[in-house]
Amino acid sequence: MTVDLKSLALPGVQRLQPYQGGKPVEELERELGIHGAIKLASNENPLGLSLMARAAIEASLVDGARYPDGNGFYLKQKLAEKLSVSTDQLTLGNGSNDVLELMARGFLGSEHNAIFSEHAFVIYQLAITAQNAEAVVVPALNWGHDLNAMAAAVDDKTRLMFIANPNNPTGTWVALDVIESLMKRVPETVLVVVDEAYFEYVDMPEYGSALSLLTQYPNLVITRTFSKAYGLASLRVGYAISHPDVADVINRVRQPFNINSMALAAAVAVLDDQDYLSRSVDLNRQGYEQLTSGFNQMKLDFIPSVGNFISVHIPGDIQALYQALLQSGVIVRPIGVYGMPNHLRVSIGLPDENQRFLDVLEQLLLKQEAT
Ligand SMILES: *Cc1c(COP(=O)(O)O)cnc(C)c1O
Repeated sequence: MTVDLKSLALPGVQRLQPYQGGKPVEELERELGIHGAIKLASNENPLGLSLMARAAIEASLVDGARYPDGNGFYLKQKLAEKLSVSTDQLTLGNGSNDVLELMARGFLGSEHNAIFSEHAFVIYQLAITAQNAEAVVVPALNWGHDLNAMAAAVDDKTRLMFIANPNNPTGTWVALDVIESLMKRVPETVLVVVDEAYFEYVDMPEYGSALSLLTQYPNLVITRTFSKAYGLASLRVGYAISHPDVADVINRVRQPFNINSMALAAAVAVLDDQDYLSRSVDLNRQGYEQLTSGFNQMKLDFIPSVGNFISVHIPGDIQALYQALLQSGVIVRPIGVYGMPNHLRVSIGLPDENQRFLDVLEQLLLKQEAT
C-alpha cells in the first residue's frame, strides 16, 4: 500500500488521542486470572441499578424489535415538568457526552475556537479538536475554573465555552453568582455550556444550577446526565436544556434514534425513584468522609470535591502504585491526561470498597517508603 490512510483523516482527527476509560473489572480479572476486583475508576454509582429502572427496562423489551421513539416523548415530558421548561428546550443524548459533542458539531468549524479550563473534563478537548476548531485552554486557579480569565479569553472566533460545574476530575465548583458575572461579560454570540453531570451531589449554599439564568441569558446551555447519581451509566442517557433555537440546531445533527428504548424507559422510571437518588447522595457523603479521613491519617493531600470522586496527591511513582493497586484487584484512575500526573482519582464506592482501597493504598505506600 502506498497511501498512508491515516493522512487522509481531517487534520483535527489526526491529532486526536482516543478517550481512555476506566479499566473494566472483567478485563482486569481476565488479565490477572483473579476474582472479586473492584472498580473505583469511572465515577459510577456503587448502588447498582435502581429496581424501578430495572423493571421498566424489562417491560420495554416487549418492543425490543422496534425502533425507539426518536423524540423521546415521555422522557422529555417528564423532564420538562420537573425542570419547569418546555419540551422544545430539551435535547436528549446518548449520554451527556453525546450532547456535548453535538454542540461542537452544530456550532464549531475550522474558523472558530472554543474555551475551557485546564484540568477540565477531557471530552471538551476531543469534541472541539474533531471539528478542526481551536481549543483555547485557560489556566486553572487552585485546580478550579478561573471564570474571569475564561471571559477574558473570548475573541471574535469564539463560539463555545465549556464550564464543568462541578468539574471532573478536580471536584471543584463555581458559585451561581460567579456564573452570572461571566454571562454578563460574554457576548451573546458565545454559547456557554455548563456541564452539570454531578449536580445532584452538590450540597453548597452558593451552588446553584445555571438553569435559573437561562431565561435571562439565551446563550446558556445546561447539560445533565443519568449516568452518575441516577445510576444508568451503561444505558447512556443525558440531555441539554437550552433556548429552543439551540435545541433545534443540535437536534438536526443528532442521530434520529440516539437513545434506545431501554434507556428511555429506565430514565423515565428512575426519575420517580426518589429513594434511590437520596440513598445515592447519602452514601456518597458518607463515603467522602470515610475516604478523606483515611487520606488525612495517611497525610495525603487531596482536592476537596463536591462530586462522587476525589483526586488525591500521591508522593513517589504513581504508575507503579497504580499497577500495584491493579495487582491487588483495585481499579482507580491515573489522571495524567488531565495534566495531573501526581494525582490519582478514586470514585467513591460502597463502604467496604472504600475501606479495601484505603487498606491496600496504605500497605503499598508503606512498602514504597521502605524501599
Ligand atoms: C461523567 C461525566 C459526564 C457524563 O457522561 P455521560 O456521557 O452522560 O455518561 C459529563 N461531564 C462530566 C464532567 C462527567 O464527569
